[in-house]
Amino acid sequence: MISISEIQKIFKGRITLNEPLARFTTFRIGGVADYFVEPVDIDDVVNIVKYAADHGIPHYVMGNGSNILISDEGIRGVVINLETGFNYLRHENDMIISGAGVKIAKFVDFCIQNSYAGVEMLAGIPATVGGALIMNAGAYGGETADHVTEVKVIRNGKLRTLSKEDCGFVYRSSNLKNTVILEATFKLSTGNKEEVSQKRKELILSRNQAQPVEVPNAGCMFKNPKDNKAAILIDQCGLKGTKFGGAMVSTKHANFIVNYDNATAQDVVELVKIVKNTVHQKTGIDLEMEVKLIGFEEVTI
Ligand SMILES: Cc1cc2nc3c(=O)[nH]c(=O)nc-3n(C[C@H](O)[C@H](O)[C@H](O)COP(=O)(O)OP(=O)(O)OC[C@H]3O[C@@H](n4cnc5c(N)ncnc54)[C@H](O)[C@@H]3O)c2cc1C
Repeated sequence: MISISEIQKIFKGRITLNEPLARFTTFRIGGVADYFVEPVDIDDVVNIVKYAADHGIPHYVMGNGSNILISDEGIRGVVINLETGFNYLRHENDMIISGAGVKIAKFVDFCIQNSYAGVEMLAGIPATVGGALIMNAGAYGGETADHVTEVKVIRNGKLRTLSKEDCGFVYRSSNLKNTVILEATFKLSTGNKEEVSQKRKELILSRNQAQPVEVPNAGCMFKNPKDNKAAILIDQCGLKGTKFGGAMVSTKHANFIVNYDNATAQDVVELVKIVKNTVHQKTGIDLEMEVKLIGFEEVTI
């Protein structure tokens, strides 16, 4: 293990050893990170990524932890959190510039307060701007990529400005993997503040009625198979309410697994196996995970 003082020679932000990660995830599950670092600027990000590579230590960027399941053993390596240094929003010449660590709710609110429309449907997604970009998160007919003009990233140790086309946005994915996303620029159309605000309110209400937002979870567990809905398949297989340890298939929305009673990551993995096997046996369809498994040695589900 490398000492903090060693890393501090090249890094200005906060560094914590053995940081418990559960509280940085919406699932409230996961072990500790060897190194948890909070860069304050671009130099810090470049330096820590290079330092980790030079020392053979893997690095991992965490957004709001709303689409991941971290293992009970945690993450061996450097976890980079951008919420300190990349939590800014600016309005410049009809463009909105957002740091990657900004939460989507704050980003949407900033856009509405500046009388812009077009991102209000994203408001209830519990992501950071960086996480929403890499996943091209979307809801109610809108996607994060819709209004992006350019994205600043670190790729291969260098700062690059990518055009929207360079980002390869497709449905719930992009080619931004293997980058650290730092900042994005958005161009939106103007809108009536009150009307857009009202629309945001209605969409959040509709989301809260459909999803188990009151219990920790990581969003939809499985991708929708072609021409099918994972939630409908899981429901039709009678799996709502099925439990393993502290994890349960939500009774409100069958594609959500909820941490209803101090679930471990292993509880969730076992429940995922039950869901997948049952759906396969009863329908012949193989469900594919949407939530990413992080820090697991070997897990075949
Ligand atoms: C209640 C609930 C509702 C949800 N509803 C929706 C929905 O309506 N639509 C939808 O699309 N998704 C939804 N999700 C899923 C989730 O919010 C999205 O996938 C979101 O984009 C994840 O963003 P994040 O910041 O939490 O990223 P994380 O979960 O922290 O990370 C996801 C991936 O992105 C990478 N990453 C994150 N930030 C960066 C960065 N700055 N640079 C490089 N890589 C990065 C991580 O390494 C990881 O691989 C929901 C989740 C929950 C819990």
